[in-house]
Amino acid sequence: MSTATPDAAAAPQITDTLVVEATGVHKLFGSNHVLKGVDLTVKAGEVVCLIGPSGSGKTTMLRTLNHLETIDAGLILISGQLVGYRQDGTRLHELAPKEVCRRREKIGMVFQHFNLFPHMTVLQNIIEAPTGVRRQPRKAATENALRLLKRVGLEDKAAAYPVSLSGGQKQRVAIARALAMEPDLMLFDEPTSALDPELVGEVLAVMKDLAQSGMTMVVVTHEIGFARQVADRVIFMADGVIVEQGPPAQVIDHPTNPRTIEFLQAVL
Ligand code: ADP
Ligand code: MG
Repeated sequence: MSTATPDAAAAPQITDTLVVEATGVHKLFGSNHVLKGVDLTVKAGEVVCLIGPSGSGKTTMLRTLNHLETIDAGLILISGQLVGYRQDGTRLHELAPKEVCRRREKIGMVFQHFNLFPHMTVLQNIIEAPTGVRRQPRKAATENALRLLKRVGLEDKAAAYPVSLSGGQKQRVAIARALAMEPDLMLFDEPTSALDPELVGEVLAVMKDLAQSGMTMVVVTHEIGFARQVADRVIFMADGVIVEQGPPAQVIDHPTNPRTIEFLQAVL
């Protein structure tokens, strides 16, 4: 007689540890006030999907989290630490690029356009940062890379060059490359929007698997189906502010704000 064991992959634990603590984030590009006081907290293990119209500040918000963009006001802590600044009393001073890179190590980012190094093989792309930045021995980094390639379903592509891969395969390599740094947080900026429709599913499947493994993720996406299925929380942004947020069943299926309703009617 066997006793039923709970499916470990079904419900990863969201803990009370805060991975992202962003408060009062403002960003201006010249006179264009793009982020107007965004507060965002993300707990360890949580998957947050960021949706909203084009130009609403989703990419900018995501990029402030790993200091690809400076901010004009507010504070952002990742795993309790400032990424781009050091604090001196109430003042923030931007850190030197080398120190920013060091603090950014635990934040993985996947962009719309893959950004693989074209002159390196898939394997070289993945072990570049672990062996370079983190000084991991080549053998260990290679073993880890092959394990990650298997995880994204590309174990036979280690020696291939990016040019020979489909968009979906490139994006899966990009995900494996980010995971090779053992991040605490993964940021995705419309990872499937540059893909041919038939390649979207394979990338979303890898992301879903990652979410179920307990990875903390912030995902900017137009894939409402993915958000509904995978997100713990959906945030709707418009004009540089968070308009509405909550579980997908609330925000996607029963939105209350007129702007959320209008946006979802247009995309669903
Ligand atoms: P979304 O990702 O929601 O489409 P973005 O964050 O890309 O929105 O853009 C928000 C606004 O910020 C837009 O008006 C855009 O033109 C502007 N913007 C984004 N990046 C830059 C930049 N590097 N320089 C100047 N303006 C920018
Ligand atoms: Mg964008």
